[in-house]
Amino acid sequence: MALPDFPVEGGCSCGQVRYRLKASPLSVYNCHCKDCQRYSGAGWSMSMIVKDDDFEVLSGDTEVYARTADSGNVIAMHFCSNCQTWLWNVPPAGGIKVARAGSLDDMDWAAPIGNIWTDSKAAWAEIDPAQTNFPKGATDRAPLFDAWKRAHQD
Ligand SMILES: [Zn+2]
Ligand SMILES: [Zn+2]
Repeated sequence: MALPDFPVEGGCSCGQVRYRLKASPLSVYNCHCKDCQRYSGAGWSMSMIVKDDDFEVLSGDTEVYARTADSGNVIAMHFCSNCQTWLWNVPPAGGIKVARAGSLDDMDWAAPIGNIWTDSKAAWAEIDPAQTNFPKGATDRAPLFDAWKRAHQD
C-alpha cells in the first residue's frame, strides 16, 4: 500500500481532539504487551511512531496518565479529556510520540510491519515470521524503522 499525500489527520471518538500528521511516521507495528491488551481491549494495539516535528495537535485537551512500565520508565499516556479515547504516548526519551494508528481518519495505508512483545501475545494471535518481530520490547527501534522504509520504497 502506497503512502498517502501528507498531511493526514486523526482524532478521538467525540471529535474534541484532532491532530495532523505532516509526514510519514517512522514506523507502524503491533504491540502485544499486557498493557496494550488492557487499554485496547483487544489482542494488541497498533503503535505509530511519529516525530514531534511532524505531529501537530490541532484542537482539544488531553488528560495524562503516567504509567510506570516494567522497565521503570514513566510513560505519559494521553487520552481525550472528554471521551477518553487513548490517542498517544510520550516516552521519556522525547523527540517522538507513539500514536495509536486506529485514531487516524483513514488507516488503510498504515499496515503494521512487525510485532513487539510477542512473548505475551494471545495464543491465537498469528505472527508472520517474515516480519520484524521482537519477543519483548524493542530497546532500539531502528530495525522497525528500516522495515517501514523497505515496505514503502516503491
Ligand atoms: Zn474525545
Ligand atoms: Zn504495548
